[in-house]
Amino acid sequence: MTAVTDTQATIAAIRREVAALHSELTRYQLVVWTAGNVSARVPGHDLLVIKPSGVSYDDLTPDNMVVCDLDGRVVEGEHAPSSDTEAQAYVYREMPHVGGVVHTHSTYAAAWAIRGEPVPCVLTMCADEFGGEIPIGPFAIIGDDSIGRGIVETLTGHRSRAVLMQNHGPFTIGRSPRDAVKAAVMVEDVARTVHLARQGGEPLAIPQGAIDSLFDRYQNVYGQAPQEAMS
Ligand SMILES: [Zn+2]
Repeated sequence: MTAVTDTQATIAAIRREVAALHSELTRYQLVVWTAGNVSARVPGHDLLVIKPSGVSYDDLTPDNMVVCDLDGRVVEGEHAPSSDTEAQAYVYREMPHVGGVVHTHSTYAAAWAIRGEPVPCVLTMCADEFGGEIPIGPFAIIGDDSIGRGIVETLTGHRSRAVLMQNHGPFTIGRSPRDAVKAAVMVEDVARTVHLARQGGEPLAIPQGAIDSLFDRYQNVYGQAPQEAMS
């Protein structure tokens, strides 16, 4: 294959993957209406593939995904890209190890974000997945790069692949779009369980040494990138 058709084949595969991954957002009830999106980096190119803005989840297809450059400008696609494209493009520009970004307003995670309260690491699966508390990012509104900047500033040097943007909701990153979707599912589950636990009393802490060993083991068992590669 020539380089051009090779690139087209790569983009076509990522269009299929990104379109299909949106069904996980609805399956796990992380989204309502059209709010929430998945994007993926096109490896080896300064491009990303993202959900079109305002299109129902039932109507998402590989063909209506939008290809943008890493400044958020449309390169290929008939629809306007998600309104979160600029924020996600900023993440891809600044965090070269990130292959996928997901954003939702999932209920429990957003509730912690409304309080501006990090989710404490009091559940072994939180230690496994996030290696510590799930942090809060700054309050930022759509319109400039402040959401992207807030995501990058909060997650740089942090084990967590999820940030709860204050008064808004979770953004998750991953080595791949599927990994970022998994983080979006897990952050909601952790946020819900810790919230429920607190209704009955004060959660018990997990010792830091145990958090560290749980995180290390899980990342290795599941063959994920070590923490250094994600920070
Ligand atoms: Zn949002």
